[in-house]
Amino acid sequence: MTEAGAQRLDGTATAKTIRDEVARGVEALRARTGIVPGVSVVLVGENPASQVYVRGKEKAAREAGMASEIVRLDAGATETEILAAVANLDADPAVHGILVQLPLPRGFDAHRVIEAISPAKDVDGFHPVNAGRLLIGLPGFVPCTPAGVIQLLERHGIALAGKRAVVLGRSDVVGKPMAILLLRKDCTVTIAHSKTADLEAVCAEADLLVAAIGKPGFVRGRLIKRGATVVDVGMNTLTTEAEVRALFGDDPRRLATLREKGAVLCGDVHPKEAAARAAWLSPVPGGVGPMTIAMLLSNALEAARRAAGG
Ligand code: NAP
Repeated sequence: MTEAGAQRLDGTATAKTIRDEVARGVEALRARTGIVPGVSVVLVGENPASQVYVRGKEKAAREAGMASEIVRLDAGATETEILAAVANLDADPAVHGILVQLPLPRGFDAHRVIEAISPAKDVDGFHPVNAGRLLIGLPGFVPCTPAGVIQLLERHGIALAGKRAVVLGRSDVVGKPMAILLLRKDCTVTIAHSKTADLEAVCAEADLLVAAIGKPGFVRGRLIKRGATVVDVGMNTLTTEAEVRALFGDDPRRLATLREKGAVLCGDVHPKEAAARAAWLSPVPGGVGPMTIAMLLSNALEAARRAAGG
């Protein structure tokens, strides 16, 4: 249970189950074909958050028994150099999955770099071919965060067919693919965004509310229908005591984290108010975040299986 009653959509435990399944799949593939799935992560520049994410992905791939490397390029690299690095990986049969860590430094065209990856190695699911395949229901790679949300819901036994779902946010990496996946699960889907009129009323109709906007604690209790399922995709940082208290009250653990680390992670949903109204709620941290990495591993295994001929 979360603090005031909603049941927890436990991403940490669910992600562990998936990562164990993937590790067993990697071992079975190796035993059957001799192929070890290989994942390469391309990092351009020194963005501190990107460095943390990239190390996390590489470590997770290694823990699942995959071969994994980080290809680092200086922020001063030219687009031609980045495209050449991607082309090298794309031509390497030992590399089954290629990830380009976003955002790229200012001035680079992320679309052009992602389109240089073969759709068969695009384990992030960002290539236009995979986006198109998702839209029309063909097999392909699905972006890891929304794919992780679906797994999180299904593995907690949340029925989706016929539900009114509202996806708050319309980015290419989360909101749009999330809406398509929910549509494929027979939800009645509304996508809400910064220009949506009467946003509160739209959200308050949702049996399932997925928040992905990047605004700390934006989803207050009044936006949540009683008994709804609420998935918080947001990953934001709070840096002042006033901000932490506004979302978490006197929570001693969070206040200690702020003192020790100078920042506290929070989602797009107000945790206390949501817990008082929702039936199910994904926490931050420990909700969608771990699921994203688990789905990345799952996609990488699938890429290697396909390269091995199924
Ligand atoms: P993004 O590209 O910045 O998109 C934000 C979306 O939210 C946009 O569609 C924007 O609407 C909408 N929005 C912003 N302010 C709004 C408001 N006041 N009311 C209604 N809609 C509003 O963000 P993103 O990449 O999708 O990420 C969203 C959040 O998820 C961030 O906190 C990010 O860190 C987190 N995230 C987490 C994971 C994970 O693994 N847990 C993965 C990816 C992202 P417009 O289109 O109208 O501007």
